[in-house]
Amino acid sequence: MYFATDLLAAWGLNLEYGVAGVLNFGYIAVIAVGAYAYGVLTLPSPAANGNYQHYVLGLHLEPAAAFVIVIAVGCVFGGLVALVGRHRLRPDYQAIMLLVVAAVALAVSEADTALVNGNPGLTLLPNPLGTTGPTAGNGWVYVGILLAICVAGYFVLRRFSDGPLGRSLRAVRDDSDAALAIGKDVVGLRMLVQVVGGGFGALAGGLLAAFIGAWSPSAWSFSETLSLLTAVIVGGVASNYGVVAGVILVPVILQQLSQYIPGLNTRPQLAADIGWMLTSALTIFFIWFRPTGIVPDRRPRYGVGRRRRLWTYAPEPAHVATDLAVHSALAGAASPMDAVASDSPTSHEAGEILASTFALPRRPFAPGPAPTAAGTAPLLEVSDVVVKFGGVRAVDGVSMQVPAGTITGLIGPNGAGKSTLVNALTGFVRPDSGRISFNGKEISNQPAHRRARAGLVRSFQLSRQFSRLSVIENLLVGRQSHPAESALGIALGLRYWKQAELENVDRAWELLRAFNLHTKANMAASNLSGGERRMVELMRALMAEPKMLVLDEPLAGLSPAWAERFEEALLQLRSSGIGFLLIEHELGIVERQCEAVVMMARGRVLSVGTMQELRMRPEVQAAYVMG
Ligand code: ADP
Ligand code: MG
Repeated sequence: MYFATDLLAAWGLNLEYGVAGVLNFGYIAVIAVGAYAYGVLTLPSPAANGNYQHYVLGLHLEPAAAFVIVIAVGCVFGGLVALVGRHRLRPDYQAIMLLVVAAVALAVSEADTALVNGNPGLTLLPNPLGTTGPTAGNGWVYVGILLAICVAGYFVLRRFSDGPLGRSLRAVRDDSDAALAIGKDVVGLRMLVQVVGGGFGALAGGLLAAFIGAWSPSAWSFSETLSLLTAVIVGGVASNYGVVAGVILVPVILQQLSQYIPGLNTRPQLAADIGWMLTSALTIFFIWFRPTGIVPDRRPRYGVGRRRRLWTYAPEPAHVATDLAVHSALAGAASPMDAVASDSPTSHEAGEILASTFALPRRPFAPGPAPTAAGTAPLLEVSDVVVKFGGVRAVDGVSMQVPAGTITGLIGPNGAGKSTLVNALTGFVRPDSGRISFNGKEISNQPAHRRARAGLVRSFQLSRQFSRLSVIENLLVGRQSHPAESALGIALGLRYWKQAELENVDRAWELLRAFNLHTKANMAASNLSGGERRMVELMRALMAEPKMLVLDEPLAGLSPAWAERFEEALLQLRSSGIGFLLIEHELGIVERQCEAVVMMARGRVLSVGTMQELRMRPEVQAAYVMG
């Protein structure tokens, strides 16, 4: 019985914390809300019940109907709690805030009000099987029903924790800023898991209260949340199967069965304390020696066909033959497959393949204007943008334009305000004044993910990746408005979004081949070298089908060979119609690639022109020499 209710609760917590990274220290509050909700929904009115306890409602509903409402109440409560912390609160602050919410909820339930009978709590709750109390003799029937609910719950849970939606949630967990930059609605996704997690927690609480027949403030404390959190960590963070193992080990064996140790059955407090000591020791052990838990979160492998699940199987796209032909011609290899196997092409080859990929009519990259039309209308227009940090005017009235289909350089000494300007353009800091318009629309007040969805995609000065996802998954996350992330996609499941996902996987393979990283597709992104990370970041941005890419010092820290490869890729991408704003310290690439260059110093635009022109100007030389 405890296993089933703890499992439902731990699954909900795992969706919030393990999958999406929302550290909900106050999770016990939704469990308690569910338990109380079951009480006040099923009890008759206090007067009809002997008037010895005080509570609201007393609706005397059928237990089955009550559980439907209990789940809904949990979802609403979870969503309300998420609302309190929705404003891009850092995860650690959010965790503390959730703890406070639980403390407030406990205080409210304890206070001697007529709400839920204060400290004594609610008793004589109707048993769903028609009898009262745990000793009713049909305990095993109840356990059977609970296990059936767990199985059903698992299939609901999977709709959120697996597939493209689960992948996006994990991306938010691993790096919420990088997820924002490719258009993920981080706030909305966090809200979603707290709504669903709230439903699971409340159902668990309701079932528990119904079985015990009572619920009071002493039945729930913060330590219950810790016990569930330990089950998630020990079982396997983000792994639904792992949580099953974790729940058996922690809340069931360590917490419940410790009281049956011979000699301890007469000393329940000692038994509970020993249970907690073992739980703590186990947590420390797993964090040190096996952080992925008993059953780690397995990511799907792509293009391997080992498990013949369709979305893990990438069919060879028809045009690959041409790619390989180009590749093998250049590499002078005997057969196309030899060329694929060779792991280190020159940047030139990579560029050629890239070109042939982007020349594909099947699904052209940016729907932006053709290169010939470039320069007619600016894609991005910035006017008089100011960003202040306290007294520092990091960006001090910058105006500039970036046309489509060209590469515009943005240079300037360290501290000039380049990164801050990028943040302001892409929605990562709020400008104090000024206007930004993109593709003819004012975007100054749009949140970051909206700007990315409109086609304004950025990279970061320090490259970021979703480190617990594989390389190809890092790309797959980039797909904009995936049908699997819509309400219909969640409701209808695989058959609704399979086609889109297959195309998504195809596209990721195209890019990986073009960048010659296909042999690392199924590797964890955290194992990549610095240069490979830059490439993955670029590919992920391309998956989001940008109209404009803002690259913040993409060459920083790259080896000369990787820098050359990156430049080659840039050259090929330019002909696809994407506009670039290239922030770079290394002036060589700027001179070679950028038509127009904007030079910033101390938050202001100092000079605009070609690199050759800029080199001649005394104010530019002075800024670079003086810093
Ligand atoms: P660049 O990218 O051109 O090297 P930045 O945009 O990173 O320059 O920084 C511009 C100025 O703004 C610097 O003086 C820097 O110290 C300041 N700055 C940047 N970010 C912050 C912040 N979050 N808080 C306070 N000051 C900041
Ligand atoms: Mg910078």
